[in-house]
Amino acid sequence: MEIDVVTITGPKVVELRRCRAAPCGDGEALVAIKAVGVCATDVELFDGTMGYYHSGLSRFPLVPGHEWAGEVLELGPRVPEHLRVGQRVVGEHCTGCEPIEEEISARCRICCRPGGLLRCPRRKETGFFGREGAFQTVLRFPARQLHVLPPETPWDLAVLAEPLATACKAVRLADLAKVDNSRVVVVGDGAVGLLLLQLLLTSSAQRLRVALLGAQAARLQRAQALGAELAWDVAVPGVQTALTEEGELPSLVFEAAGTPSAVKLAVSVCAPGGTVVLLGLSGNLPVELCTDKVVLRQLTLRGSLSSEPEDWLRVREILSLGCLTSVVTHVFEGLQAYETAIEHVRRPEASYPHRAPLDSMFRFALLAALFALSRADSQEFLGAAAKIDVSEGQAKPEVQVTSEVTDASAAAARVSVSEAKEIDLNAVENPYLATGATAECLALIFMIVACVICYLECCK
Ligand SMILES: [Zn+2]
Ligand SMILES: [Zn+2]
Repeated sequence: MEIDVVTITGPKVVELRRCRAAPCGDGEALVAIKAVGVCATDVELFDGTMGYYHSGLSRFPLVPGHEWAGEVLELGPRVPEHLRVGQRVVGEHCTGCEPIEEEISARCRICCRPGGLLRCPRRKETGFFGREGAFQTVLRFPARQLHVLPPETPWDLAVLAEPLATACKAVRLADLAKVDNSRVVVVGDGAVGLLLLQLLLTSSAQRLRVALLGAQAARLQRAQALGAELAWDVAVPGVQTALTEEGELPSLVFEAAGTPSAVKLAVSVCAPGGTVVLLGLSGNLPVELCTDKVVLRQLTLRGSLSSEPEDWLRVREILSLGCLTSVVTHVFEGLQAYETAIEHVRRPEASYPHRAPLDSMFRFALLAALFALSRADSQEFLGAAAKIDVSEGQAKPEVQVTSEVTDASAAAARVSVSEAKEIDLNAVENPYLATGATAECLALIFMIVACVICYLECCK
């Protein structure tokens, strides 16, 4: 059987390949893929920035697609008895390390433990490493980790199984029974954020009140329609005041936006003694977090990765009940639309709290102008750092210092000389020569840019 497969061959390079489907092995099922979801992590996988590349787990070429739903096309020997051809199924994300047909007792020690699948260093994660993702017409998958959905389940709900499982795990780890003021915050208005919101509103014995903090007006409206008590645009100041009731902030916060600033925001809106569950991935960006804020307020930071088998049982239950509202925003037809879908999901540098890009540009232009001005004022410094006596392609070993310079600039000049010896010395002369006039010109240009940006910002 010939199948089409989307393959990422390098950062931002994708191919649609045609190849033969692998035969359905022992304990395996072939699934005809009907729908695949694209989330922010897919963008990171496509761009090559996802953390798994850095740790060496994921590598190119890679077949993406970790959020999927399909129909059983073929079953191999030794599969669970309840499976039939034609059933609507979804599949667990992490499939452990052992051939799935092995009896539990014969399986790897780490995989056998509760939550062990995701801790096993030899595990396979569908669409990330070890197992191809679902951006192909037919996927070969361990039958034991398939979950059957009612035949009437719409594909736009079934395709949410994986992010829903991720949300289920985060809620499970948060232990809702411990929420002491019945108020919860979700930071992030993406699919996982909106699924979390729905889960929280239905999961707990006590009626929870949920506030959702996001950056996109349409999604915030959606959150409100889904039952959020408060849907707050992070560009608007005063979120802490809005969340404070009788002097107290909510004691449970989920961070599902996956940006460094969202993590900081999540920590800042959590009550002392509370818990912040982090489930967003930022594409390996570092977070500048003052840990005093964690220590002094005795916060618990809890990471929650993907999902585990028990979360998938809950997913099957929720999808079978039909009480979930789909949060799919766009639908594209055919595997060739993969890149278009990625570009659609690619988030603008939405930051929490949101900062207008013009604001940042203004700051940059102003700083650049100040820097250029300071250079113009210290011509002596520039002269010292720049004057490398170059004649007939021969660098003199000593830097000609014409005035007092700092150690740093002299060192910089020495570096220039040693570099100059390696390359064409005549070409090096100009880049190191700068005059006060040039610096003043630059300062003027940057000032004008800053003024224009400031004007645009005020007109908004
Ligand atoms: Zn995802
Ligand atoms: Zn294992």
